[in-house]
Amino acid sequence: MNETLQYDLDNISQVLDAAKILSLEYLNRLQDAPSAVSNPTVALVALPAKGLGAAQAQRLFEQNFLHNIVASSGPRYWGFVTGGTTPASIAGDWLATVFDQNTQNAKGPGDVSAALEVQTVQLLLHLFNLPPHFLGAFVTGATTSNFTGLAVARQWYGRQLGKDFAREGISGTIKVYAATPHSSAIKCMAMLGLGSNNITLVPVLPGRECMDMDAFEAAISQHPSEPFILISSGGTVNTVDFDDLQRIASLKDKYNFWWHIDAAFGAFAALSPQHAHLLTGWEAADSITIDFHKWLNVPYDSAMILTRSEHAQLQVQTFQNSNAPYLGNPLEHFNYLNYVSENSRRFRALPVWFSLLAYGKEGYADIVSNNIALAQQFGQALEASVYYKLAAPVRLNTICFTLAEEDNRTDKIAKILAELNKRGNVFMTPTVYKGLPCIRAALVNWRTAKEDVDIAVSELLDVAKHYKY
Ligand SMILES: *Cc1c(COP(=O)(O)O)cnc(C)c1O
Repeated sequence: MNETLQYDLDNISQVLDAAKILSLEYLNRLQDAPSAVSNPTVALVALPAKGLGAAQAQRLFEQNFLHNIVASSGPRYWGFVTGGTTPASIAGDWLATVFDQNTQNAKGPGDVSAALEVQTVQLLLHLFNLPPHFLGAFVTGATTSNFTGLAVARQWYGRQLGKDFAREGISGTIKVYAATPHSSAIKCMAMLGLGSNNITLVPVLPGRECMDMDAFEAAISQHPSEPFILISSGGTVNTVDFDDLQRIASLKDKYNFWWHIDAAFGAFAALSPQHAHLLTGWEAADSITIDFHKWLNVPYDSAMILTRSEHAQLQVQTFQNSNAPYLGNPLEHFNYLNYVSENSRRFRALPVWFSLLAYGKEGYADIVSNNIALAQQFGQALEASVYYKLAAPVRLNTICFTLAEEDNRTDKIAKILAELNKRGNVFMTPTVYKGLPCIRAALVNWRTAKEDVDIAVSELLDVAKHYKY
Protein backbone atom coordinates (compact mmCIF):
# COMPACT_ATOMS: atom_id res chain seq x y z
CA MET A 1 0.00 0.00 0.00
CA ASN A 2 1.11 3.53 -0.73
CA GLU A 3 2.76 4.85 2.43
CA THR A 4 0.59 7.97 2.80
CA LEU A 5 -2.55 5.84 2.48
CA GLN A 6 -1.10 3.44 5.03
CA TYR A 7 -0.38 6.33 7.39
CA ASP A 8 -3.95 7.65 7.11
CA LEU A 9 -5.38 4.20 7.60
CA ASP A 10 -3.32 3.80 10.78
CA ASN A 11 -4.51 7.23 11.94
CA ILE A 12 -8.14 7.07 10.80
CA SER A 13 -9.31 8.09 14.24
CA GLN A 14 -7.41 11.42 14.07
CA VAL A 15 -8.60 11.96 10.49
CA LEU A 16 -12.24 11.64 11.53
CA ASP A 17 -11.71 13.63 14.75
CA ALA A 18 -10.32 16.54 12.74
CA ALA A 19 -13.37 16.47 10.46
CA LYS A 20 -15.65 16.30 13.51
CA ILE A 21 -13.93 19.26 15.18
CA LEU A 22 -14.26 21.36 12.03
CA SER A 23 -17.91 20.25 11.67
CA LEU A 24 -18.70 21.38 15.20
CA GLU A 25 -16.92 24.72 14.76
CA TYR A 26 -19.04 25.34 11.67
CA LEU A 27 -22.34 24.19 13.17
CA ASN A 28 -21.77 26.16 16.37
CA ARG A 29 -21.36 29.42 14.52
CA LEU A 30 -24.03 28.73 11.89
CA GLN A 31 -26.54 30.93 13.70
CA ASP A 32 -24.51 34.06 12.95
CA ALA A 33 -22.15 33.05 10.16
CA PRO A 34 -22.38 35.18 6.98
CA SER A 35 -25.10 34.05 4.59
CA ALA A 36 -23.11 35.31 1.60
CA VAL A 37 -19.55 36.33 0.81
CA SER A 38 -18.69 38.98 -1.75
CA ASN A 39 -16.31 37.84 -4.46
CA PRO A 40 -15.39 34.42 -3.17
CA THR A 41 -11.86 33.60 -4.21
CA VAL A 42 -10.50 30.18 -5.03
CA ALA A 43 -6.80 29.86 -4.37
CA LEU A 44 -4.82 27.82 -6.85
CA VAL A 45 -3.59 24.53 -5.50
CA ALA A 46 -1.38 22.21 -7.53
CA LEU A 47 -1.74 18.43 -7.57
CA PRO A 48 1.08 17.15 -5.35
CA ALA A 49 3.24 14.37 -6.75
CA LYS A 50 3.56 12.86 -3.33
CA GLY A 51 0.35 13.01 -1.30
CA LEU A 52 0.07 15.32 1.71
CA GLY A 53 -2.08 13.04 3.82
CA ALA A 54 -5.60 13.76 5.09
CA ALA A 55 -4.57 16.05 7.97
CA GLN A 56 -2.54 18.37 5.75
CA ALA A 57 -5.25 18.34 3.04
CA GLN A 58 -7.80 19.50 5.60
CA ARG A 59 -5.42 22.19 6.86
CA LEU A 60 -4.94 23.48 3.30
CA PHE A 61 -8.70 23.55 2.81
CA GLU A 62 -9.17 25.48 6.04
CA GLN A 63 -6.53 28.03 5.05
CA ASN A 64 -7.69 28.56 1.50
CA PHE A 65 -11.39 27.94 1.29
CA LEU A 66 -13.13 27.80 4.63
CA HIS A 67 -13.70 31.57 4.82
CA ASN A 68 -15.71 31.34 1.58
CA ILE A 69 -18.17 28.77 2.88
CA VAL A 70 -21.53 30.50 3.43
CA ALA A 71 -24.16 29.63 6.03
CA SER A 72 -26.51 28.16 3.45
CA SER A 73 -27.89 25.74 6.02
CA GLY A 74 -28.29 28.57 8.55
CA PRO A 75 -31.56 30.18 9.66
CA ARG A 76 -31.47 33.26 7.40
CA TYR A 77 -30.50 31.78 4.05
CA TRP A 78 -33.76 32.45 2.27
CA GLY A 79 -32.62 32.41 -1.34
CA PHE A 80 -33.94 29.85 -3.85
CA VAL A 81 -35.58 27.15 -1.66
CA THR A 82 -32.73 26.02 0.55
CA GLY A 83 -33.19 23.66 3.45
CA GLY A 84 -30.83 23.05 6.32
CA THR A 85 -29.59 19.84 7.87
CA THR A 86 -31.11 18.31 11.00
CA PRO A 87 -28.63 16.76 13.47
CA ALA A 88 -29.89 13.24 12.73
CA SER A 89 -29.62 13.77 8.97
CA ILE A 90 -26.00 14.88 9.34
CA ALA A 91 -25.23 11.71 11.27
CA GLY A 92 -27.08 9.57 8.70
CA ASP A 93 -25.29 11.26 5.81
CA TRP A 94 -21.89 10.82 7.44
CA LEU A 95 -22.65 7.13 7.91
CA ALA A 96 -23.92 6.78 4.32
CA THR A 97 -20.44 7.92 3.30
CA VAL A 98 -18.70 5.56 5.69
CA PHE A 99 -20.78 2.55 4.62
CA ASP A 100 -20.46 3.49 0.93
CA GLN A 101 -23.11 1.06 -0.29
CA ASN A 102 -24.13 0.84 -3.92
CA THR A 103 -27.89 0.88 -3.37
CA GLN A 104 -29.60 -1.32 -5.96
CA ASN A 105 -30.97 -4.71 -4.98
CA ALA A 106 -33.93 -4.74 -2.62
CA LYS A 107 -34.33 -8.52 -2.39
CA GLY A 108 -32.09 -11.49 -2.53
CA PRO A 109 -28.33 -11.38 -2.29
CA GLY A 110 -26.77 -8.03 -1.72
CA ASP A 111 -26.67 -5.44 0.96
CA VAL A 112 -29.57 -4.09 2.98
CA SER A 113 -29.37 -0.50 1.72
CA ALA A 114 -31.99 -0.90 -1.02
CA ALA A 115 -34.39 -2.59 1.41
CA LEU A 116 -33.92 0.38 3.72
CA GLU A 117 -34.64 2.70 0.79
CA VAL A 118 -37.89 0.80 0.12
CA GLN A 119 -38.79 1.18 3.80
CA THR A 120 -37.92 4.90 3.79
CA VAL A 121 -40.28 5.41 0.84
CA GLN A 122 -43.05 3.80 2.94
CA LEU A 123 -42.30 6.14 5.84
CA LEU A 124 -42.44 9.10 3.45
CA LEU A 125 -45.78 8.02 1.97
CA HIS A 126 -47.04 7.94 5.54
CA LEU A 127 -45.57 11.39 6.25
CA PHE A 128 -47.38 12.88 3.25
CA ASN A 129 -50.61 10.90 3.82
CA LEU A 130 -50.24 9.27 0.42
CA PRO A 131 -51.64 5.80 -0.34
CA PRO A 132 -49.30 2.81 -0.84
CA HIS A 133 -49.90 2.51 -4.59
CA PHE A 134 -46.71 4.44 -5.37
CA LEU A 135 -43.25 3.14 -6.08
CA GLY A 136 -40.60 5.56 -4.86
CA ALA A 137 -36.95 6.00 -5.78
CA PHE A 138 -34.35 8.40 -4.44
CA VAL A 139 -32.71 10.73 -6.94
CA THR A 140 -30.46 13.77 -6.65
CA GLY A 141 -33.04 16.56 -6.76
CA ALA A 142 -36.37 17.70 -8.09
CA THR A 143 -34.86 18.27 -11.54
CA THR A 144 -33.87 14.61 -11.82
CA SER A 145 -37.15 13.64 -10.24
CA ASN A 146 -39.07 15.59 -12.90
CA PHE A 147 -36.79 14.02 -15.51
CA THR A 148 -37.54 10.51 -14.28
CA GLY A 149 -41.31 11.04 -14.06
CA LEU A 150 -41.48 12.67 -17.47
CA ALA A 151 -39.31 9.96 -19.03
CA VAL A 152 -41.87 7.35 -17.95
CA ALA A 153 -44.63 9.69 -19.17
CA ARG A 154 -42.91 9.74 -22.57
CA GLN A 155 -42.88 5.94 -22.67
CA TRP A 156 -46.56 5.91 -21.67
CA TYR A 157 -47.36 8.32 -24.50
CA GLY A 158 -45.64 6.04 -26.99
CA ARG A 159 -47.66 3.09 -25.76
CA GLN A 160 -50.88 5.00 -26.47
CA LEU A 161 -49.72 5.11 -30.11
CA GLY A 162 -48.65 1.47 -30.09
CA LYS A 163 -44.95 2.40 -29.95
CA ASP A 164 -42.03 1.65 -27.68
CA PHE A 165 -40.17 4.97 -27.66
CA ALA A 166 -37.38 3.57 -25.48
CA ARG A 167 -36.42 1.15 -28.25
CA GLU A 168 -37.58 2.95 -31.35
CA GLY A 169 -36.85 6.54 -30.42
CA ILE A 170 -39.57 9.14 -30.24
CA SER A 171 -41.56 10.18 -33.24
CA GLY A 172 -44.03 13.00 -33.71
CA THR A 173 -44.74 15.79 -31.28
CA ILE A 174 -45.83 14.81 -27.82
CA LYS A 175 -48.59 16.97 -26.42
CA VAL A 176 -47.60 18.46 -23.06
CA TYR A 177 -49.67 20.99 -21.10
CA ALA A 178 -48.67 23.12 -18.11
CA ALA A 179 -49.61 26.50 -16.65
CA THR A 180 -46.57 27.66 -14.66
CA PRO A 181 -43.95 24.93 -15.11
CA HIS A 182 -40.76 25.16 -13.06
CA SER A 183 -37.68 26.02 -15.13
CA SER A 184 -36.36 22.51 -14.44
CA ALA A 185 -39.41 20.93 -16.12
CA ILE A 186 -38.60 22.92 -19.25
CA LYS A 187 -34.99 21.74 -18.99
CA CYS A 188 -36.32 18.15 -18.74
CA MET A 189 -38.35 18.66 -21.94
CA ALA A 190 -35.07 19.51 -23.66
CA MET A 191 -33.16 16.60 -22.11
CA LEU A 192 -35.89 14.12 -23.04
CA GLY A 193 -36.04 15.15 -26.67
CA LEU A 194 -39.58 16.44 -26.18
CA GLY A 195 -38.45 19.97 -27.00
CA SER A 196 -38.49 22.82 -24.53
CA ASN A 197 -40.66 24.83 -26.93
CA ASN A 198 -43.31 22.14 -26.98
CA ILE A 199 -45.14 22.89 -23.78
CA THR A 200 -48.63 24.18 -24.50
CA LEU A 201 -49.04 26.88 -21.87
CA VAL A 202 -52.52 27.01 -20.40
CA PRO A 203 -53.62 30.46 -19.16
CA VAL A 204 -53.54 31.15 -15.42
CA LEU A 205 -56.32 32.64 -13.34
CA PRO A 206 -56.20 36.46 -13.13
CA GLY A 207 -53.59 37.59 -10.61
CA ARG A 208 -52.56 33.99 -9.94
CA GLU A 209 -50.02 31.38 -11.08
CA CYS A 210 -52.41 28.44 -11.07
CA MET A 211 -54.06 26.95 -14.11
CA ASP A 212 -57.33 28.38 -15.41
CA MET A 213 -59.21 25.10 -15.36
CA ASP A 214 -62.01 26.27 -17.64
CA ALA A 215 -59.47 27.24 -20.28
CA PHE A 216 -57.72 23.88 -19.82
CA GLU A 217 -60.91 21.89 -20.21
CA ALA A 218 -61.88 23.93 -23.24
CA ALA A 219 -58.48 23.09 -24.81
CA ILE A 220 -58.51 19.35 -24.13
CA SER A 221 -62.15 18.89 -25.04
CA GLN A 222 -61.25 19.88 -28.62
CA HIS A 223 -59.56 16.49 -29.05
CA PRO A 224 -61.11 14.36 -26.32
CA SER A 225 -59.57 11.06 -27.41
CA GLU A 226 -55.97 12.26 -27.90
CA PRO A 227 -53.47 11.36 -25.17
CA PHE A 228 -51.42 14.09 -23.51
CA ILE A 229 -49.07 14.75 -20.61
CA LEU A 230 -49.99 17.29 -17.93
CA ILE A 231 -47.36 18.88 -15.69
CA SER A 232 -49.08 20.38 -12.65
CA SER A 233 -47.65 22.71 -10.06
CA GLY A 234 -47.95 21.62 -6.46
CA GLY A 235 -46.49 24.91 -5.35
CA THR A 236 -44.95 27.43 -7.77
CA VAL A 237 -41.66 28.97 -6.70
CA ASN A 238 -42.68 32.63 -6.71
CA THR A 239 -46.02 32.58 -4.93
CA VAL A 240 -46.53 28.89 -4.01
CA ASP A 241 -49.73 28.69 -6.00
CA PHE A 242 -51.22 25.24 -6.52
CA ASP A 243 -53.09 24.06 -9.58
CA ASP A 244 -56.56 22.77 -8.71
CA LEU A 245 -55.43 19.19 -8.14
CA GLN A 246 -58.87 18.01 -7.07
CA ARG A 247 -60.46 19.17 -10.29
CA ILE A 248 -57.62 17.73 -12.35
CA ALA A 249 -58.07 14.38 -10.59
CA SER A 250 -61.71 14.38 -11.63
CA LEU A 251 -60.65 14.67 -15.31
CA LYS A 252 -58.82 11.35 -15.10
CA ASP A 253 -62.02 9.39 -15.86
CA LYS A 254 -62.84 11.40 -18.91
CA TYR A 255 -59.47 11.99 -20.59
CA ASN A 256 -56.44 9.87 -21.35
CA PHE A 257 -53.44 11.66 -19.85
CA TRP A 258 -50.30 11.15 -17.79
CA TRP A 259 -50.48 13.41 -14.77
CA HIS A 260 -47.17 14.59 -13.31
CA ILE A 261 -47.15 16.86 -10.25
CA ASP A 262 -44.09 18.90 -9.37
CA ALA A 263 -44.54 19.22 -5.61
CA ALA A 264 -40.85 19.78 -4.88
CA PHE A 265 -41.56 21.64 -1.65
CA GLY A 266 -45.35 22.13 -1.87
CA ALA A 267 -45.79 18.47 -0.85
CA PHE A 268 -45.04 19.57 2.70
CA ALA A 269 -48.38 21.43 2.78
CA ALA A 270 -49.68 17.94 3.62
CA LEU A 271 -48.20 18.44 7.11
CA SER A 272 -50.15 21.61 7.83
CA PRO A 273 -53.81 21.05 8.76
CA GLN A 274 -54.68 24.50 7.36
CA HIS A 275 -53.01 23.84 4.00
CA ALA A 276 -53.31 20.11 3.36
CA HIS A 277 -56.44 20.75 1.27
CA LEU A 278 -54.18 22.27 -1.43
CA LEU A 279 -53.09 18.71 -2.23
CA THR A 280 -56.54 17.12 -2.28
CA GLY A 281 -56.68 14.72 -5.22
CA TRP A 282 -52.89 14.41 -5.71
CA GLU A 283 -52.95 10.69 -4.98
CA ALA A 284 -54.54 10.25 -8.44
CA ALA A 285 -51.33 11.47 -10.12
CA ASP A 286 -49.18 9.13 -12.21
CA SER A 287 -45.93 10.64 -10.97
CA ILE A 288 -44.98 13.10 -8.22
CA THR A 289 -41.74 14.99 -7.58
CA ILE A 290 -40.72 15.74 -3.98
CA ASP A 291 -37.45 17.33 -2.87
CA PHE A 292 -35.82 16.47 0.45
CA HIS A 293 -32.89 18.89 0.52
CA LYS A 294 -35.51 21.63 0.80
CA TRP A 295 -38.21 21.26 3.47
CA LEU A 296 -37.15 17.88 4.84
CA ASN A 297 -33.88 19.53 5.90
CA VAL A 298 -31.50 16.75 4.90
CA PRO A 299 -28.16 17.50 3.21
CA TYR A 300 -27.80 17.88 -0.54
CA ASP A 301 -28.52 16.07 -2.73
CA SER A 302 -31.79 14.31 -2.09
CA ALA A 303 -35.22 13.94 -3.66
CA MET A 304 -37.75 11.27 -4.59
CA ILE A 305 -39.74 10.35 -7.66
CA LEU A 306 -43.04 8.62 -7.01
CA THR A 307 -44.69 6.69 -9.81
CA ARG A 308 -47.79 4.53 -9.62
CA SER A 309 -46.85 0.88 -9.15
CA GLU A 310 -49.08 -0.06 -12.08
CA HIS A 311 -46.60 1.79 -14.34
CA ALA A 312 -43.65 -0.37 -13.24
CA GLN A 313 -43.37 -1.99 -16.67
CA LEU A 314 -43.23 1.39 -18.45
CA GLN A 315 -40.61 2.54 -15.98
CA VAL A 316 -38.50 -0.57 -16.53
CA GLN A 317 -38.80 -0.22 -20.31
CA THR A 318 -37.49 3.33 -19.94
CA PHE A 319 -34.63 2.70 -17.56
CA GLN A 320 -33.65 -0.95 -17.72
CA ASN A 321 -30.00 -1.73 -18.00
CA SER A 322 -30.91 -4.42 -20.46
CA ASN A 323 -27.51 -5.58 -21.59
CA ALA A 324 -26.66 -7.06 -18.23
CA PRO A 325 -28.33 -10.50 -18.20
CA TYR A 326 -26.69 -11.38 -14.87
CA LEU A 327 -29.11 -8.93 -13.27
CA GLY A 328 -32.10 -11.16 -14.14
CA ASN A 329 -35.60 -10.23 -15.25
CA PRO A 330 -36.03 -6.64 -14.04
CA LEU A 331 -39.70 -7.04 -13.21
CA GLU A 332 -39.08 -10.11 -11.06
CA HIS A 333 -35.85 -9.00 -9.40
CA PHE A 334 -36.43 -5.51 -8.17
CA ASN A 335 -33.31 -3.46 -8.64
CA TYR A 336 -33.31 0.33 -8.51
CA LEU A 337 -30.95 0.62 -11.43
CA ASN A 338 -33.77 -0.47 -13.73
CA TYR A 339 -36.08 2.25 -12.44
CA VAL A 340 -33.97 5.43 -12.54
CA SER A 341 -31.25 6.93 -14.69
CA GLU A 342 -28.35 6.16 -12.33
CA ASN A 343 -26.81 2.69 -12.30
CA SER A 344 -24.56 3.26 -9.31
CA ARG A 345 -26.46 4.90 -6.49
CA ARG A 346 -25.45 6.42 -3.18
CA PHE A 347 -27.17 5.26 0.05
CA ARG A 348 -29.25 8.43 -0.13
CA ALA A 349 -32.14 7.11 1.94
CA LEU A 350 -30.09 6.77 5.12
CA PRO A 351 -30.03 10.46 6.21
CA VAL A 352 -33.76 10.65 5.46
CA TRP A 353 -34.48 7.50 7.47
CA PHE A 354 -32.44 8.85 10.40
CA SER A 355 -34.24 12.18 10.37
CA LEU A 356 -37.75 10.71 9.98
CA LEU A 357 -37.16 8.33 12.88
CA ALA A 358 -35.52 11.03 14.98
CA TYR A 359 -38.20 13.71 14.65
CA GLY A 360 -41.30 11.86 13.49
CA LYS A 361 -44.41 13.28 11.94
CA GLU A 362 -44.80 15.79 14.74
CA GLY A 363 -41.27 17.16 14.37
CA TYR A 364 -41.78 17.76 10.68
CA ALA A 365 -45.25 19.22 11.17
CA ASP A 366 -43.66 21.67 13.64
CA ILE A 367 -40.96 22.72 11.15
CA VAL A 368 -43.57 23.29 8.45
CA SER A 369 -46.07 25.21 10.59
CA ASN A 370 -43.28 27.31 12.10
CA ASN A 371 -41.98 28.32 8.67
CA ILE A 372 -45.49 29.13 7.46
CA ALA A 373 -46.25 31.30 10.51
CA LEU A 374 -42.93 33.15 10.19
CA ALA A 375 -43.52 33.74 6.47
CA GLN A 376 -46.85 35.35 7.37
CA GLN A 377 -45.18 37.56 9.97
CA PHE A 378 -42.47 38.60 7.56
CA GLY A 379 -45.08 39.45 4.91
CA GLN A 380 -47.10 41.53 7.38
CA ALA A 381 -44.02 43.48 8.49
CA LEU A 382 -43.15 44.30 4.87
CA GLU A 383 -46.70 45.40 4.10
CA ALA A 384 -46.65 47.65 7.17
CA SER A 385 -43.43 49.35 6.06
CA VAL A 386 -43.35 52.42 3.81
CA TYR A 387 -40.67 50.91 1.56
CA TYR A 388 -41.95 47.50 0.56
CA LYS A 389 -45.14 45.78 -0.49
CA LEU A 390 -46.13 42.22 -1.23
CA ALA A 391 -46.37 41.27 -4.89
CA ALA A 392 -48.74 38.42 -3.99
CA PRO A 393 -50.34 37.18 -0.80
CA VAL A 394 -48.17 34.86 1.31
CA ARG A 395 -49.81 31.52 0.47
CA LEU A 396 -47.43 29.18 2.25
CA ASN A 397 -43.76 29.71 3.07
CA THR A 398 -42.54 32.05 0.36
CA ILE A 399 -42.68 35.83 0.35
CA CYS A 400 -42.58 37.60 -3.00
CA PHE A 401 -42.27 41.36 -2.52
CA THR A 402 -41.19 44.51 -4.27
CA LEU A 403 -40.48 48.17 -3.60
CA ALA A 404 -43.48 50.40 -2.90
CA GLU A 405 -41.85 53.12 -5.01
CA GLU A 406 -42.27 52.30 -8.70
CA ASP A 407 -39.33 54.13 -10.28
CA ASN A 408 -36.38 52.08 -11.38
CA ARG A 409 -37.31 48.99 -9.43
CA THR A 410 -35.01 46.55 -11.21
CA ASP A 411 -31.98 48.69 -10.52
CA LYS A 412 -32.88 49.43 -6.93
CA ILE A 413 -33.66 45.81 -6.15
CA ALA A 414 -30.28 44.76 -7.53
CA LYS A 415 -28.61 47.34 -5.27
CA ILE A 416 -30.63 46.33 -2.22
CA LEU A 417 -29.76 42.67 -2.68
CA ALA A 418 -26.09 43.47 -3.29
CA GLU A 419 -25.98 45.48 -0.06
CA LEU A 420 -27.89 42.83 1.92
CA ASN A 421 -25.52 40.15 0.71
CA LYS A 422 -22.49 42.26 1.51
CA ARG A 423 -23.71 42.55 5.09
CA GLY A 424 -24.27 38.79 5.10
CA ASN A 425 -27.01 38.70 7.76
CA VAL A 426 -29.74 37.46 5.48
CA PHE A 427 -29.77 36.04 1.96
CA MET A 428 -32.58 36.47 -0.57
CA THR A 429 -32.76 36.20 -4.35
CA PRO A 430 -34.30 38.37 -7.06
CA THR A 431 -37.19 37.23 -9.22
CA VAL A 432 -39.62 38.56 -11.77
CA TYR A 433 -43.27 37.95 -11.06
CA LYS A 434 -45.72 38.82 -13.85
CA GLY A 435 -43.21 41.28 -15.27
CA LEU A 436 -42.65 42.92 -11.88
CA PRO A 437 -39.10 42.88 -10.50
CA CYS A 438 -39.27 41.36 -7.02
CA ILE A 439 -37.33 39.92 -4.14
CA ARG A 440 -38.13 36.41 -2.97
CA ALA A 441 -37.63 34.77 0.39
CA ALA A 442 -38.43 31.09 0.95
CA LEU A 443 -38.54 29.80 4.51
CA VAL A 444 -37.82 26.08 4.81
CA ASN A 445 -35.07 25.90 7.41
CA TRP A 446 -35.78 24.10 10.71
CA ARG A 447 -33.68 26.65 12.66
CA THR A 448 -35.49 29.79 11.50
CA ALA A 449 -37.15 31.65 14.39
CA LYS A 450 -38.93 34.92 15.16
CA GLU A 451 -35.58 36.70 15.84
CA ASP A 452 -34.47 35.85 12.32
CA VAL A 453 -37.55 37.50 10.83
CA ASP A 454 -36.85 40.57 13.01
CA ILE A 455 -33.26 40.70 11.76
CA ALA A 456 -34.37 40.37 8.12
CA VAL A 457 -36.98 43.13 8.48
CA SER A 458 -34.56 45.48 10.19
CA GLU A 459 -31.87 44.83 7.56
CA LEU A 460 -34.33 45.47 4.72
CA LEU A 461 -35.57 48.72 6.28
CA ASP A 462 -32.05 49.85 7.01
CA VAL A 463 -30.86 49.22 3.46
CA ALA A 464 -33.91 50.99 2.01
CA LYS A 465 -33.26 54.03 4.25
CA HIS A 466 -29.61 53.99 3.36
CA TYR A 467 -30.47 54.25 -0.32
CA LYS A 468 -33.36 56.65 0.45
CA TYR A 469 -35.90 54.47 -1.29
C1 LIG B 1 -36.39 23.46 -6.45
C2 LIG B 1 -37.43 23.06 -7.42
C3 LIG B 1 -37.10 22.27 -8.53
C4 LIG B 1 -35.68 21.86 -8.86
O1 LIG B 1 -35.14 21.20 -7.79
P1 LIG B 1 -33.62 20.76 -7.63
O2 LIG B 1 -33.66 20.03 -6.36
O3 LIG B 1 -32.85 22.05 -7.57
O4 LIG B 1 -33.25 19.95 -8.80
C5 LIG B 1 -38.14 21.86 -9.34
N1 LIG B 1 -39.41 22.24 -9.11
C6 LIG B 1 -39.75 23.04 -8.07
C7 LIG B 1 -41.18 23.43 -7.87
C8 LIG B 1 -38.76 23.47 -7.18
O5 LIG B 1 -39.09 24.24 -6.14
